Amino acid sequence: SRKPLIAGNWKMNLDHLQAVAFVQKLHWTLKDAAHESDAVEVAVFPPFTDIRTVQTLVDADKIPFALGAQDLSTQDSGAYTGEISGAFLKKLDASYVIIGHSERRQYHHETDELVGAKVQAALRHGLVPVVCVGETLEQREESGPTAVSVAQLEVALQGISADADIVVAYEPVWAIGTGQVASPEQAQEVCAALRAVVADVLGEEAAARTRILYGGSVKSGNIASFMREPDVDGALVGGASLVADEFAAIIRYQK
Ligand code: 13P
Repeated sequence: SRKPLIAGNWKMNLDHLQAVAFVQKLHWTLKDAAHESDAVEVAVFPPFTDIRTVQTLVDADKIPFALGAQDLSTQDSGAYTGEISGAFLKKLDASYVIIGHSERRQYHHETDELVGAKVQAALRHGLVPVVCVGETLEQREESGPTAVSVAQLEVALQGISADADIVVAYEPVWAIGTGQVASPEQAQEVCAALRAVVADVLGEEAAARTRILYGGSVKSGNIASFMREPDVDGALVGGASLVADEFAAIIRYQK
């Protein structure tokens, strides 16, 4: 069975000093609540400039949070001004990297092919890609709930090996930062379709072990309803991951 993953995507929030205060507060909130740290995997995705600081803190205080980045370069090193190599992230003990978030697809014109190249780069450096897919409201009305996400994932997974460790995140664009959350049934429908893509491209064994997350206006009040769905294995949380009490309550959704 798949271990649930609750992931906090900070986006462009919290500088490295605020990050220290936040991670400490989250850690103590969970400790006070006697949270069993091995029931659910917790991962935080700070801005690049915070990662070294958060790494030092979680290492020194033995805080059981995995670390991830929000993007990476398709390239490993060289004359690519402003880019960050997966090799650097790996050296900072990052385990995960978000790839193809809708904000990058929208504001930075990332294509499915670029997303695919970034997935390859992540795997080359031993990072687990958190591959984000999802449709806009217009696309949902035009081509139905699953077509866009399925097509995006098919391209992203091209050429990767069957034993690759990946995470998929279904984030309907219309639910991100809007408070207009998808219903658990809507999330389940697309997550099941995405699991079928993983089965098609990487095989049944990969499909059975790959975690598929829902993201988009996840809060402490709705997380449990998503986690009851058979193909939803966790959440990628934006706004609510920036409030320690709220994110702790999401992590403790079973209580
Ligand atoms: P919100 O939780 O703020 O809707 O953001 C979701 C998201 O984009 C996480 O990657």
